[in-house]
Amino acid sequence: MTGEAMPAGTTSGTPQVLLGHHLKQLKLPTMLREYAKVARECAHDGVDHASYLLRLVELELIDRERRTVERRIRAARFPAVKSFDTFDFTAIASLNKMLVLELARCEYILRRENVIALGNSGTGKTHVALALGLAACQKGFSVVFTTAASLVNQLMEARDERRLLKLQRDLQAAKLLIVDELGYVPLSPTGAELLFETFSQRYERGSTIVTSNLPFEDWTSVLGSERLTGALLDRLTHHVSILAMNGDSYRLKQSAGRRRAAPRAEQNRASDDIIDQETGEILTP
Ligand code: ADP
Ligand code: MG
Repeated sequence: MTGEAMPAGTTSGTPQVLLGHHLKQLKLPTMLREYAKVARECAHDGVDHASYLLRLVELELIDRERRTVERRIRAARFPAVKSFDTFDFTAIASLNKMLVLELARCEYILRRENVIALGNSGTGKTHVALALGLAACQKGFSVVFTTAASLVNQLMEARDERRLLKLQRDLQAAKLLIVDELGYVPLSPTGAELLFETFSQRYERGSTIVTSNLPFEDWTSVLGSERLTGALLDRLTHHVSILAMNGDSYRLKQSAGRRRAAPRAEQNRASDDIIDQETGEILTP
């Protein structure tokens, strides 16, 4: 588009005000922000009107997709945003990397299948669950992240306040529900019953990811009843990928590594420095 060929309105005052108003009303904030700049570029490049409009529309689409993903990530309530980019698969030999990367494609969510990550503390179960959750948000699925203890608290509270059905409906609506840390806190009979109901309601309707430090045979110690545990596992494991994540704690390995590198720091250390008990790092500036 040349300078002369530009719509007369884009350079004069009133049409710009109206255009601004209309673009706002149509909820096209990127077009509003970019149209003048892109018009100048298109004039410079000799691009025609249709291509100018195409550039603007593409910018709006890209931005809209980014905003939607950000909204999904906020709605998921992740305690931290982690991805597979920062996950070191060589640190956990028991984990099937190919399976995890396949899961990151999110096709299991379309098939409404589940994922269970089992292993001792610090082996990256939460990291993997967060990264799968992030991948799901990026692929357009709604996600809810919670811990088993928090979920059960929310369910009990909702029941006491007579809004259990609404919470259950909200939980069912998520394409992916991530329940982290099943096993650290034993549940009350009511809590276990409510958790069972949640899994039961999602059965073959939506995907669930569960992480636990306990092997299946010990789940009864958390859920209380053998019958309930059996029924819950039956539903959860009908269509499931199991991630075996037993190994050395990544946290401990890292802090041990830092401690080995510490002697130099030790020499430079003043007697009143405060030392992080876990990592051996000097905390005082
Ligand atoms: P778990 O949930 O199994 O107890 P986490 O996922 O909380 O373990 O991992 C503990 C910490 O170590 C987290 O900060 C996590 O990001 C990190 N971590 C664990 N495993 C890895 C790994 N293989 N690569 C990179 N970081 C890891
Ligand atoms: Mg964890």
